[in-house]
Amino acid sequence: MDADKLHDECAIVGVYGPAEAAKLTYLGLYALQHRGQESTGIVSSDGETMHAEVGMGRVNDVFTEDRLARLPGYLAIGHNRYATTGLSTLRNAQPLFVDYARGSLAIAHNGNLVNAARMRTSLEADGSIFRSTSDTEVILHLMARSQAGHLLDSVVEALQQVQGAYSLLIMNPHEIIAVRDPYGFRPLCLGRLQTGHVVASETCALDLIEATYVRDVQPGELVRISQEGVQSYFPFPTRPPQHCVFELIYFARPDSQVFGHNVYLTRKAFGRQLAREAPVDADVVIPVPDSGLPAALGYAEEAGIPFDTGLIRNHYVGRTFIEPQQAIRHFGVKIKLNTIHGLLEGKRVVIVDDSIVRGTTSKKLVSMLRQAGAKEVHMRISSPPITHPCLYGIDTPTHEELIASSYSVEHICSYFQADSLAYLSHEGMMEVARQQEQGYCSACFTGQYPVHTPWRDDLHQLTLFDKQGF
Ligand code: AMP
Repeated sequence: MDADKLHDECAIVGVYGPAEAAKLTYLGLYALQHRGQESTGIVSSDGETMHAEVGMGRVNDVFTEDRLARLPGYLAIGHNRYATTGLSTLRNAQPLFVDYARGSLAIAHNGNLVNAARMRTSLEADGSIFRSTSDTEVILHLMARSQAGHLLDSVVEALQQVQGAYSLLIMNPHEIIAVRDPYGFRPLCLGRLQTGHVVASETCALDLIEATYVRDVQPGELVRISQEGVQSYFPFPTRPPQHCVFELIYFARPDSQVFGHNVYLTRKAFGRQLAREAPVDADVVIPVPDSGLPAALGYAEEAGIPFDTGLIRNHYVGRTFIEPQQAIRHFGVKIKLNTIHGLLEGKRVVIVDDSIVRGTTSKKLVSMLRQAGAKEVHMRISSPPITHPCLYGIDTPTHEELIASSYSVEHICSYFQADSLAYLSHEGMMEVARQQEQGYCSACFTGQYPVHTPWRDDLHQLTLFDKQGF
């Protein structure tokens, strides 16, 4: 429905150089709140001692002035989390921070490892004791076991043993290492500050702290930021890129540049393509705010149908209304969105959203539009039907809960009681996405998982965690 809904993945920010690195990290996390609202944390260092502050909730709630004052130093990494694996508790909040035989380490992870459960079982059999249920901790344990003398080498050694999606920030008291997995599933970009560097999930974080975008961290690249400057390494075999297309559809903030795309313009282009593929005679095009807005504008422009607002969103709805239980979800849509009286009376309405997950939002919206007097309701979705869960860090529910995994478009349309329903085709979506970059993961639409050994085990594990977590 909107970019700050609570089902989301994670954000990471790392700052090296300025005297108040934690404060800039905090601002970066603020800009990336849409990627996770369950917990947040920052670990900073003055070059010798590391300091950590993590808490449950949003950036603004957790980081009081006092807490920020307890994070001195010129380097810091931070994280916003939404649980896609592991339970929703403070001990899973990131950055994970540990002291061990060879010093202190912190790690912040965006993505999801597909072989974490298996790695964890074998590490536990070997005596490792885990303090969290998050898959990220596996990387820390693998690093702690490494005999390598340098942080960089232990990171490489650990990452050679894990599979899946990771954009990572790893920090010891005096350096930060940023890594993107060889497939480049999740975004990660590098920026320059007046007195240092920043690494962040999305460029909107750079904008806020007035950093200059330098470039994306490349798939398979390790960037080490230390007193020696910024160094780049490519220690892994090259893989075909598998950028997450859903970042462009829904996750990333529209004012970010992701995978070489301006996210907002890409969403508009999805909407235009949708209008070409699924035209309809109508009087007005309205978006589902905020997520459907750019696509609806694109649709209206291409179709030559007037665009209007139609639905107003309450921006102050808290997390109570985003609980995943079906009963509360129904309630939630109504509390979050309302129609403008009179505006839709007697009109043939096209309503555009970016995606349908469980179908709850769309069903409720069609009935709200009818109650508001719409003569016809045509639903248009600027992505293909989501038929498969994501294994790489996006919070999609299980197969059974994904409406399009079990039902045809016709069936879903009649369930919604819409006059028509059309999704963007996979080819249409890819045509738009490939205008900037070639390699995309679209497994949630196709079931073709690019990294799948041994995904079946871990899918099972994921499902278990999801159920417990909720
Ligand atoms: P649903 O009611 O389950 O069909 O949810 C559809 C709405 O959720 C759409 O308005 C999307 O913008 C939004 N959405 C899509 N993917 C996600 C996600 N992974 N987490 C949270 N919201 C999402």
